[in-house]
Amino acid sequence: MPAEKAQALVLRTTDWSESSRIATLWTREFGKVRVLAKGGRRLKSNFENALDLLTLCRIVFLRKSSSSLDLLTEAQVVERFPRLRSDLPALYAAYYIAELLSDWTEDYDPHPVLFDEALATLRSLGQPAKIEDRGSRIEDSSRSLQSSILDSQSSILNPQSSKSPSPGPRLARFELVLLRELGYMPALTSCAVCGQELQTGAAQAVSGSAERAQSLAFSPAAGGVVCSVCWPTRREALTLSQGAWQALRDLSEKDDAWQESFSPEVRAEIRRLLNDYVTYLLGRRPRLLPYLGS
Ligand SMILES: [Zn+2]
Repeated sequence: MPAEKAQALVLRTTDWSESSRIATLWTREFGKVRVLAKGGRRLKSNFENALDLLTLCRIVFLRKSSSSLDLLTEAQVVERFPRLRSDLPALYAAYYIAELLSDWTEDYDPHPVLFDEALATLRSLGQPAKIEDRGSRIEDSSRSLQSSILDSQSSILNPQSSKSPSPGPRLARFELVLLRELGYMPALTSCAVCGQELQTGAAQAVSGSAERAQSLAFSPAAGGVVCSVCWPTRREALTLSQGAWQALRDLSEKDDAWQESFSPEVRAEIRRLLNDYVTYLLGRRPRLLPYLGS
């Protein structure tokens, strides 16, 4: 029974017995692992508060056979994201990240790029606010998702939150990296149905065909952007504005494109489109979706 070391983000915890807890962890080295933390509910356990939701920790665990849970033997806090506790839109975005990683990745299927992106996203969302946070803290973020949300709704009524940057583009960047890593990257530069390369507005102007600027759509079932010729064959496809198309390509190609200022209309369109695409791929609507802003 080898002891493994890993960096881990805590995605979910459930009480297992009087004193123990089961934790779902997203590790850089092994992908998703589920561990039993014996004594994990006691105040002075080996794990202290390392198993709080969305905490980055360093862990040691014993790999068991496929039929039983791995056993957590050590967990030390490396980093927390305190701003999440006083910024509701950022907190929902972070919970959504945890939900996607927990529900969509396989056990022992590592994606270091996705681990790094998740961590970078939590750091961006959890950056200290420029003004001092006065919001109250969520005392027990390790409880169930639902009760955490209820807690946060009642405890974070902090008007300063509205001055925080919108988490939408940062979250969209994470989702695009996740989709690429899991093999579901939507087609953005060529039609998802016929494969024809899609012309940008600038290219159309140069080629003198601006007067017939393509109207584009996005089809979750086809797996991406659909050209004007194929659109009538995809009845479920949604109109895609040039602005949102450009934003999607930028967010998928550039690490820091999420820092650009996107219009509220473009942000809302991207949110709607990603919601539809993720829901289609998962076969159900993620629990956190209704709480996400753009
Ligand atoms: Zn086409």
